[in-house]
Amino acid sequence: MRFLPVFLDLKAGPVVLIGSGELLRAKLRVLAAAGARLRVHAIDGNRDLAGLADDVAAGVVFSDGDPLTADLAGIIAIVCAGAGDIGVAMSARAKSLGLPVNVMDDLEHSSFIFPAIVDRGEVVVAIGTGGSSPVVARRVREKIEALLPARIGELAEFIGGFRKSIHARLPEFQLRRRFWERVIDGPIGALVLAGRKTEAEAALDRISDATAFARADKPEGSVALVGAGPGDPDLLTIKALRALQDADLVLYDELVSPEILDRIRRDTARIAVGRRVGKPGIGQDAINRLMIEAVQSGQRVVRLKGGDPFVFGRGGEEVEALRAAGIAYSIVPGITAAIGGAAAFEVPLTFRQEALRITFLTAHKAHDAETVDWSTLTDTKATVVVYMGMTAAPSVRAGLLAAGRSPETPVGVFARVTRPDAQAAIGTLGELPELIARIEGGPAILIIGDVVRHAGAISQNPKQITTQIISDLLEAAA
Ligand code: SAH
Repeated sequence: MRFLPVFLDLKAGPVVLIGSGELLRAKLRVLAAAGARLRVHAIDGNRDLAGLADDVAAGVVFSDGDPLTADLAGIIAIVCAGAGDIGVAMSARAKSLGLPVNVMDDLEHSSFIFPAIVDRGEVVVAIGTGGSSPVVARRVREKIEALLPARIGELAEFIGGFRKSIHARLPEFQLRRRFWERVIDGPIGALVLAGRKTEAEAALDRISDATAFARADKPEGSVALVGAGPGDPDLLTIKALRALQDADLVLYDELVSPEILDRIRRDTARIAVGRRVGKPGIGQDAINRLMIEAVQSGQRVVRLKGGDPFVFGRGGEEVEALRAAGIAYSIVPGITAAIGGAAAFEVPLTFRQEALRITFLTAHKAHDAETVDWSTLTDTKATVVVYMGMTAAPSVRAGLLAAGRSPETPVGVFARVTRPDAQAAIGTLGELPELIARIEGGPAILIIGDVVRHAGAISQNPKQITTQIISDLLEAAA
């Protein structure tokens, strides 16, 4: 390591920036946005500050003086970008004064270099490659960006706000460290990262015996209700992936694909708790109990659900059970089957002028379908997405036809969407039961409405049943 990363206090004094053109302007933007006070010698005379916020621009002063003779008292660093020979001369001057200097793209004349930066407020990660490859640094930065929770800076700030008071309550360093570790790794940290700072503050205030809290040998458990999306593991959100990597126990639904279960950390316990049509699961009460007991025993639990937890996923009931038990939880949304299916099969759910609204409805059993008020769904400018509609398909069809929707209404049955074995059958409302028969099993959603006419991309998978695009069907019918 030739360059030691250190953090410069921008409040300690101004930075002198010398140069011209876009190079100068790029550095000016970066430094000003970071909060530096800048004295700028623009060799090209361009003093444009367009694009900078007013409060940021307020920290920038242009200087007419010759930088080679200008007074440098109180200056904390010198940066040259597009400064040519002046940069080299300035480097010699800075070095003779013992001032840190950076001449852009010129290691020989620089005493410090700029790292690539991941900026999360109070948390800043600097990535250096000793000046050898900014592109490598950028790639590393992308990886770290993906890894770090967006609110990690807020977490640091949150802890900063309590440091003094906790210091007073826990003078012993070891104990204090354990205290903060438990806060960060437990539900309080999770609340801050979920953007629920007020609740986190309340939870921290509730810790009456800080010593006992720090000494407890049992870690504090936590639970997250996580949406796994419709099957493709690449459709997991970054948050969902992080939760899976952190979990001690994953309770998952039958709908969650094996490829997604592969993304769980290897040594994590996992239990299938869901039910599928025809197969009983352990039951909602038992799921709630299992979840609560696991959290109370100090485990980090992920309740993993297909699609989104709050779209026909019974996430609401689980949240109520957690609330009743006084357990802190967080919710990570997922891509619901309708949205995943629409993207995979190119069905623009709200194609302009053709659909002004989307209705997601469940038709679990024929009985459910019979209780739906189909008369609210006859509008031809409405797209209807039916979940759990395979067995009840004849009732869905009967209901919509009886309410007056045309039998020629385009319909798509989209099964196992975003998975390798996805299938689609497209036709008309009149033929819905036959379309279902052409699909080799669920789970499947039905999309009903004119927008299905735009469906595409259904022949990429050789295993897929050949389907006709609705426009062909309509042509044949005409
Ligand atoms: N919470 C889930 C829905 C659970 S209800 C979500 O947001 O997607 C179960 C129903 O979801 C299934 O009967 C089916 O209609 C639909 N479904 C779930 N995953 C699916 C997939 N990969 N392809 C098609 N439909 C799916």
